[in-house]
Amino acid sequence: METEMIALTTKIKDKINSLWQMVGNTPMIEVSYRYKGGKEQTILVKCEYYNGLTGSIKDRMALYILQKAYEQGDIKPEDTILEATSGNTGIAFAAIGKALGHKVQILMPDWLSNERKEIISSLGADMFLVSREQGGFSGSIEMTEKFSSHDNIFLPRQFENAYNAEAHEKTTGREIYQQLLLSEMKNPYAFIAGVGTGGTIMGVGKCLRKIFPDIKIHPLEPAESPTLSTGYKIGSHRIQGISDEFIPAILDLERLDKVIQVNDGDAILMAQKLGKDLGLGVGISSGANLLGAIKVQLESKTAQPVITMFPDSSKKYVSTDLFKVEPIKENYLSPDIKLTDYRPMMKG
Ligand code: PMP
Repeated sequence: METEMIALTTKIKDKINSLWQMVGNTPMIEVSYRYKGGKEQTILVKCEYYNGLTGSIKDRMALYILQKAYEQGDIKPEDTILEATSGNTGIAFAAIGKALGHKVQILMPDWLSNERKEIISSLGADMFLVSREQGGFSGSIEMTEKFSSHDNIFLPRQFENAYNAEAHEKTTGREIYQQLLLSEMKNPYAFIAGVGTGGTIMGVGKCLRKIFPDIKIHPLEPAESPTLSTGYKIGSHRIQGISDEFIPAILDLERLDKVIQVNDGDAILMAQKLGKDLGLGVGISSGANLLGAIKVQLESKTAQPVITMFPDSSKKYVSTDLFKVEPIKENYLSPDIKLTDYRPMMKG
C-alpha cells in the first residue's frame, strides 16, 4: 500500500513538472500613450493572461503551492483541495487539482461574475457561494478554516501562504528581469500591481529589489474601497480580483512604497480603451494597473521604465460593467490618455 502511494506521489510530482511547461514565460509588451496630447511615453506590461493553463495571474501560484505541498508531504493524492477565492484562484486550483487527480472545493462570495462561477463548476470543482450576510470574503475564509483539522483536506491558504509570493519571486519577477535584459532596458523606476492576496506585489517586488535596490514597489487599491490605506474593510468596488476586504497576511506594507489609488470606473474605461483602441482584451484589474503605472510615470516625470501587469483577459467579464457604457467622471485620468500602440518585448 505504501509503495503504491509513493509511486502515485512520484507520478504526480512528474505531472507537476510537466504542467510548468504550460505556465509562465508570458510575453511583455510596451504600451505607448500620450497624456493630454503630450509626448509619447511607454509602460512595460507583463501579460499574465497568457498563462497557458487557465489564462490568469493565478496559474503560477496555484501550481507552485501544490508543488511545494507535495515536496514537503503536506498533501496526499487522495486529499480534497479546499480554498476561498474571488475567482481566478478557484479556476486555477480547479484546473490544476483536476489534472493531478484531486477533488476541489471552492468557496466564493456570491457577487462575483457569473463567468467565474460557471468556469469553476465546468472544471469539475464543487462550488459554495457565500453571501454578504454569511460573511462574504472573510466568511468564506473562516469557513475553510473550520475544516483545517479534517483528514484528507488540503488548504492552500493563498492569503497567508509564503509560497504564493515566492512563486512570483522565482518565476514572474525573474522573467521580468530577463525580459528587461534582453530588451536592453535600463534600470526600471517602479513596479505597480493591484493587491488581491499581495502575492504578486510582494514576490515580484522582492525579486526586482534584489537586482535594482532603488526601484519603487507600489501596491494599488480601488479608491472606492481603500482597505490598504485605512486598514479596514470599507466601501465596495468593481475591480474583481483585488481588495478583498482585509489586509492579507503575506502583504507587508512596511516594505512597499506609497499605495496608489485608482477609481473603478476609470479602470473600466481604461480596460475598454485597451480593447477598442489597441485590440487588447483584458480585465478590469489590468485597466487599473495600467492607470496606476501611468499615474506613477506622470507624477515622477521619470524617463526610466515603469512596469505593471495585465492579470486577466476580458472573457470572464462579459456580464459585468466592463461590457457596458461607463460614465466618465471629472477626476478620471483615462479620458486624457490616448493609447497609441503596443509592441511585444523580447520573450524571456
Ligand atoms: N487581478 C486579478 C484579476 C486577480 O484575479 C488577482 C488575484 N486575486 C489580482 C489581480 C491580484 O493578484 P495577487 O493576489 O497576487 O495580489
